[in-house]
Amino acid sequence: MFKIPRGTRDFSIEDMQKRRYIEEGMRSTFQTFGYREIQTPTFETLELFTAKSGQEIIEELYSFKDKGGRDLALRPELTAPVIRFYVDKLQMEPKPLKLFYFGNCFRYDRPQKGRYREFRQAGCEIIGTDTPEAYAELIVLAYKILENSGIEDLRLNIGNLNILSLIFKQLKLTREQQKYLIPLIDKSLFEDVFDVLRDFGIKGEDANKFIEILQTPDVKIIKKYFKDDSAIKEIGELEQILKLIEKAFGIKNYKVQMSIVRGLDYYKGLVFEIEAPILGAEKQLCGGGAYDLISLFGGKKTPSAGFAIGFDRTIVALESENYRFPKSQIDAYVIPLNEDIVDLAINIVQILRNEGFLVDLDLLRRGLGKSLKYASSIDVKKAIILGPKETKQNSVTVRDMETGEQKFIKIKNIIKIFQ
Ligand code: AMP
Repeated sequence: MFKIPRGTRDFSIEDMQKRRYIEEGMRSTFQTFGYREIQTPTFETLELFTAKSGQEIIEELYSFKDKGGRDLALRPELTAPVIRFYVDKLQMEPKPLKLFYFGNCFRYDRPQKGRYREFRQAGCEIIGTDTPEAYAELIVLAYKILENSGIEDLRLNIGNLNILSLIFKQLKLTREQQKYLIPLIDKSLFEDVFDVLRDFGIKGEDANKFIEILQTPDVKIIKKYFKDDSAIKEIGELEQILKLIEKAFGIKNYKVQMSIVRGLDYYKGLVFEIEAPILGAEKQLCGGGAYDLISLFGGKKTPSAGFAIGFDRTIVALESENYRFPKSQIDAYVIPLNEDIVDLAINIVQILRNEGFLVDLDLLRRGLGKSLKYASSIDVKKAIILGPKETKQNSVTVRDMETGEQKFIKIKNIIKIFQ
């Protein structure tokens, strides 16, 4: 009768077991890097998002007026809300401030595999430092979260928007011309980039050189391209970050890629992306970098950087790589064989639950055969059967649901069945 809204999903019991398992792992990786969790509201004032991205962003948002006439929007991402929170209440916190979060985001996108209207992000922000080690650690954290989740084929690409801007400057491209080129660079349409540069009056040789810089992973080639000192300094900083990632953190699986653009007016300097090629068209799992929002939101200028991981795509990537998610099993299913034994059955359930075991109880008073069938359908490790014969001897029958083996056990020793 009622249909689920376009671009949204229901998550089954199995889906949620997978999602919670992966989320717990990610949370723990954030924590091992010294990050602490926060949460912000699901909706914000509309202005929070237009302040950075302009009115055009409204097309992509779920925005609405509430009954008090306020313009609000479901959050499309979490960096702006977190920086609003920081400017409002956290500016006095000791630096660096390392914050992480999980949250659902909403975008009025065209739904397809890996692209939804409601999706989940895991992300973080580091505020108050711009040292190479801070940036290197941030990139390593993003990589480790995905690697620890179990994804095998990951591609980490690192770029720098200041360097890209300096290339634009060296080619004397106007802002308008840059705006035209950026989406082409973003999509790696290098032949089109060449044609457009020629239309802008750039010599073929210079256009080719530019495209080489966008494509080469070799920092030495990029370095040679520049004449001015600010570019050399910027590249030197990038080299320091790369050296730390490779030599100190031990991650060799990365590539320099100057064609990463990620919306030039938001990020500045360092940018990076992590992809899972198995995902095909929607292969981007993570995007991040250094950005400047704090002063725009009225805070005291402080360096900040962060990233967001697409949680749903992480799950899709794991499923596509046939990752074996652990089964979350119920430890025991307790079956009283008649009404008189229900009290005792509850007693046993309580003892086991208080010990932290996952325990269910037959609540339908069905016969043993049906109860055992149900127990195996919900993936129980052991069935605990209580009939008159057992209770007379202060015992239970414990059935191993995998092997079918049955044992008579004294109730006082019940906890031992899991040892
Ligand atoms: P962004 O904030 O656009 O940089 O997105 C960060 C990450 O969130 C992306 O790399 C994707 O993995 C994920 N993501 C973005 N938009 C969607 C969407 N509509 N559906 C699912 N995942 C998304």
